[in-house]
Amino acid sequence: MRLLRFDFTIEHVPGKELNIADALSRAPVDLSESNEFETETKAYVDSIVNNFPASDMRLQNIRDECVKDEICKTLMFYCKEGWPEKSSLSDSLKPYWSLQGEFTIIGNMLLKADRLVIPRSLQDEILERLHDGHQGIVKCRERAKSSVWWLGMSTMIENMVKRCQKCIENANDHAEPLLQPEFPKRPWQKLASDLFELKGQTYLLVVDYFSRYIEIAKLSSTSSQSVVNHLKSIFARHGIPETFISDGGPQYNSLTFKQFAQSYGFRHIMSSPRFAQSNGLAERSVQTIKNMLKKSEDQYNSLLSYRTTPLANGYSPAELLMGRKLRTLSPVAPKTLVPKLPNTRELLKKEDECKFKQKQYYDRRHRTRPFSKVKTNDRVWVKDQKRQAIIKAESNEPRSYIIETDSGEIRRNRRHFSNFPEKPDTKISKNTFETIPDEIPIYNNKLEDNQTDQSDKSDLYVTKSGRISKPPDKLDL
Ligand SMILES: [Zn+2]
Repeated sequence: MRLLRFDFTIEHVPGKELNIADALSRAPVDLSESNEFETETKAYVDSIVNNFPASDMRLQNIRDECVKDEICKTLMFYCKEGWPEKSSLSDSLKPYWSLQGEFTIIGNMLLKADRLVIPRSLQDEILERLHDGHQGIVKCRERAKSSVWWLGMSTMIENMVKRCQKCIENANDHAEPLLQPEFPKRPWQKLASDLFELKGQTYLLVVDYFSRYIEIAKLSSTSSQSVVNHLKSIFARHGIPETFISDGGPQYNSLTFKQFAQSYGFRHIMSSPRFAQSNGLAERSVQTIKNMLKKSEDQYNSLLSYRTTPLANGYSPAELLMGRKLRTLSPVAPKTLVPKLPNTRELLKKEDECKFKQKQYYDRRHRTRPFSKVKTNDRVWVKDQKRQAIIKAESNEPRSYIIETDSGEIRRNRRHFSNFPEKPDTKISKNTFETIPDEIPIYNNKLEDNQTDQSDKSDLYVTKSGRISKPPDKLDL
């Protein structure tokens, strides 16, 4: 204990390299020094005790509960009297055996290294205190590391945070790793569609996933029938796709459209409501076309130039769709206009490379991480509806689920709900410290709106560079 206040390294030096007479190290210790030893030890104990992030009242409470706790009591006894053989320990004490060197008793309190050992009776309360401000698992563990310990604390923290209703309801939206649609096997197999407005006119846009070839049509009416008619015209030109993706706008989400899809024999997929990103190709194409049409004097020539400009994979949309280059206003040798099929293997390789780069860029930029998995019958919290629901099934769309709320079934992307743990935890008690006036947490990151804690503000200070600095987030027991 005398040495605890030093930070030292022990090094072995062979006797022959010691220049000072070894006899000195064997000088008998004068027993009168024991007074100094006591003073030193007391100073050390005081410094530890004074630095606990807890009031005297709280420490006394921990002491009292420790004495009542079978485990703490026994650990303290072993600290004083020495540890028995592991085999003679009861099962509940065995896990502590390998840690025996770390326990000490200071100021009548049991410590593991410099952390207070918390008896079972106080663990739930301390857990809640660790979670003040509703920080995540890592932050809560970090808080505990500087002050308290008990066996299994880390797991308990994790369970508590995962089950905290407030945390579930306010789970941070984070981006998920970019999910890229599978590249189709051939042209015009899979299309995406969207409507857009430009200069007071509504347009229909259709884009092919394979070639990125875009067709647009000015709509005389925004009815579903009008959209269907134009699509029929476009399909008459290039054929009927296997898959057709759109958002859930009224023109697509109608009986007319459903019948059209049935009679023309293609699969219609509507992107997840409130998550337009899943119709990403159509959205991006709309942007491209809008920017182009806004600037151009001859809209048809602009469209031609888009269709004949090589994509990142080296081929133009027209080449990929029709297997030939189109003649444009730029002069070309006639033989380049002779039909020639793209080299599919090379194309796929290049597409993969582009996708990989895009994904890397996106994932890095948005610091994406996957959402936790959910399965049928899981309870979830629907963020926009602010209510609970049950997962019914995965929907056709990636990362999208059919969920059942008390007012019926809805479809949501995974990002629009957070999941509850298997069973609600009723063990975590309400904060019982509110009644103790001197126990207000000082460094509480997220104070409730109606709380105004002056001590929190006064801890802020401005550094030389003008940055506002705040003391580290410590646990106040
Ligand atoms: Zn929480």
